[in-house]
Amino acid sequence: KAKSIGQNGHCFYTSDMEETSRNRTRVKSQLAGAIDRNELYLEYQPIYTLSDREITGIEALARWQNEELGQVSPAEFIPLAEESDMICHIGYWVFDRALNDLVKITQDTEVELTLSINISARQLRSDDFPSKMEEIRERHGIDLSRIRLEITESLLISEHANEHSVLCELSEKGYRLALDDFGTGYSALGYLQRYPLEVVKIDKSFVSDSLASNAFLIKTIVYMADMAGMTTVAEGIETPEQEEFLSSTGCMYGQGFHFSRPLVLEDTISLLKARQNSLLS
Ligand code: C2E
Ligand code: MG
Ligand code: MG
Ligand code: MG
Repeated sequence: KAKSIGQNGHCFYTSDMEETSRNRTRVKSQLAGAIDRNELYLEYQPIYTLSDREITGIEALARWQNEELGQVSPAEFIPLAEESDMICHIGYWVFDRALNDLVKITQDTEVELTLSINISARQLRSDDFPSKMEEIRERHGIDLSRIRLEITESLLISEHANEHSVLCELSEKGYRLALDDFGTGYSALGYLQRYPLEVVKIDKSFVSDSLASNAFLIKTIVYMADMAGMTTVAEGIETPEQEEFLSSTGCMYGQGFHFSRPLVLEDTISLLKARQNSLLS
């Protein structure tokens, strides 16, 4: 351990690992109070049909603004939350808030969107997850068919039996399941078949890297998903060229900065209204 004595006589660590670990502890302790302090909020990224650029759904993405730490990315705080049951509290908060917002969006715009929610493996470890989700959903009166749960690919090969059974229970209840970040994990084709998945989301790394080198892979994923009766969403579309290519492969849906960044609720509603108005005029 790289430990040294400072000029003022205090011990401090100079190794990067210690620094990182101290920072993690600090972020985690702030995160523990984030819901109570009302520091979490959601943004929504629209999902478009690639054929005619219609918005058919939105994905809820968690955001955290902390006084001491500033804006912290979910890529940083979600993995920390996943180390304990904190992810469960955050997960229920996200679902409750997103459904609340979905009711408002539906009222204000009269558009019936599908809502995608990201779910962590750890949330599926508790047996009462499906019933708690149902309680929240019923409270908001949102139809099951409008909700899509996004799980990451690595989850499918997990050894945890309970995650499997809870996932199947959710699907039997009628929740729609999407496989997020497809292509980044190691799942064999067989895994895809073992789950009642409706949607495969092609990871943005395939879309953003040189299209020429990934064209074959992307085409194969779209073809395979189609054969298995699933639809595909391409993540991370940033350019017109990427849109055009994805569209040419038969990929049905797209998401990315080229279409829209994630938006706060008010801006989501404004975007939907502006599109309606342009259709009417
Ligand atoms: P994800 O579910 O795969 O979400 C897509 C990520 O890509 C989002 O990052 C989104 O802002 C970003 N993105 C969208 N379009 C583009 C694009 O054109 N280019 C690029 N470079 N990026 C794009 P974000 O919001 O930082 O979220 C990161 C991850 O954190 C999510 O990946 C998801 O795994 C996790 N996450 C976010 N919110 C939640 C949540 O409520 N619960 C759980 N369990 N995980 C969450
Ligand atoms: Mg997602
Ligand atoms: Mg993803
Ligand atoms: Mg993800």
